[in-house]
Amino acid sequence: MAEIVIVGGGAAGMMCAAHAAEGGREVLLLEKNEKLGKKLFITGKGRCNLTNEAGPEQMMECIISNPRFMNSSLRSFSSEDTVRYFSERGLALKTERGGRIFPESDKSSDVIRALEKRLEELSVRIRLHTEVTGISPSEEGYLLSVRSPRGKEENLRAKALVIATGGLSYPATGSTGDGFRFAHSLGLALKDRTPSLVPMKVKEIEECRRLMGLSLKNTGIAFRKEGKVLFRDFGEMLFTHFGISGPMILSASARIPGDAYKGGLSLIIDLKPALSQEKLDQRLLRDFKESENRNFIHALHGLLPGKLLPVILERSQIPPDKKVHSVTRQERERLLRLLKEFPLTVTGLRGYEEAVITKGGVSVKEIHPKTMESRKYPGLYFVGEVLDVDALTGGYNLQIAWSTAAAAGRALAERKPI
Ligand SMILES: Cc1cc2nc3c(=O)[nH]c(=O)nc-3n(C[C@H](O)[C@H](O)[C@H](O)COP(=O)(O)OP(=O)(O)OC[C@H]3O[C@@H](n4cnc5c(N)ncnc54)[C@H](O)[C@@H]3O)c2cc1C
Repeated sequence: MAEIVIVGGGAAGMMCAAHAAEGGREVLLLEKNEKLGKKLFITGKGRCNLTNEAGPEQMMECIISNPRFMNSSLRSFSSEDTVRYFSERGLALKTERGGRIFPESDKSSDVIRALEKRLEELSVRIRLHTEVTGISPSEEGYLLSVRSPRGKEENLRAKALVIATGGLSYPATGSTGDGFRFAHSLGLALKDRTPSLVPMKVKEIEECRRLMGLSLKNTGIAFRKEGKVLFRDFGEMLFTHFGISGPMILSASARIPGDAYKGGLSLIIDLKPALSQEKLDQRLLRDFKESENRNFIHALHGLLPGKLLPVILERSQIPPDKKVHSVTRQERERLLRLLKEFPLTVTGLRGYEEAVITKGGVSVKEIHPKTMESRKYPGLYFVGEVLDVDALTGGYNLQIAWSTAAAAGRALAERKPI
């Protein structure tokens, strides 16, 4: 019988294994892929934004679901501890815009290598190509059903068990929601899962296709439902072949409740947020005056990116070859409204294949926040994305994985008897 079995060799599984082994425990790490850290490899566009210099309080403000649950583990293993942990293991780090911390090499593979090296130093046993298909409590701990390479089925026994199987997003990396199924089979409460930090689909798909690749910086957005503003932001967004994406949209997907998309959600884009309605009107009047004998289309060139121009023209219903001097006041007002309040209808979120994280998961009510141990099943722990905790982009999600993993690893090291 193994002392401790950890299911899932991602960020949380590796960190938990290291902490338990540092405390002298014998650890077996099971990973269904052919290598460890497949998702970690693609984080931060291959550069791995492994944490953020924000302190625990500030970090909790960027955690959307259950920030208070993270209070204890973020304090006992903070982003400072993450930096120290990796730095002491020879990984040079750097801080970028917004306090985001990356390896100096810009290579996520260096983060994985640092962890793998640590696991080797600590003699953690690793079994790759090994998929856990079920878990159940047994007399002395837990029984695991395991599918090994070439499909061989076997049972393993563990005195303590850690579930670090991640969520459902980017399933090709191995995160296929197995931990949710294990929790469900044990009767543990789960919060509904949805893709989060994910692009959005819009009704005006043809327009989006025409605008595909256009990135709007310094743009204002407001999502409205039945007259109420659900989310407002200022920054960067991107048009794609199916709708919209980019940093602001991903953040919005994490903040807006899932039921708001039913029947469509109104998105209003302020294309000129630096100018008030009045100032923009004055600017239009000035531009119109300068080109009064030219076709209307020429009066807008300095105002909008080229890709956006035909879409705005069409929506304004002002013929592009109309002479500027004959554009009516109503037409100008229509144009003004479009520039300040360009409307789109969001019909839903894209799927897990494109989601950075999974919202929902094992209810934090089931878990001791100091140790990540199940309240109902002593000796069973949940760490990382499998838990109902998620955050904005910026290194916070990986910090959730490191902090929860360190909390469980340390608790396992101190557990008596194991
Ligand atoms: C494209 C992308 C970019 C991202 N960039 C960042 C970033 O820069 N910064 C940041 O903070 N966060 C980022 N994230 C989020 C971050 O990757 C996750 O929050 C984090 O990886 C969660 O760690 P985890 O260990 O809980 O799960 P995972 O990393 O998903 O690891 C789970 C592991 O468990 C294994 N597993 C699953 N089921 C079984 C089973 N039944 N048996 C055996 N093994 C199993 C899987 O194969 C996998 O290796 C990004 C996510 C994506 C998709």
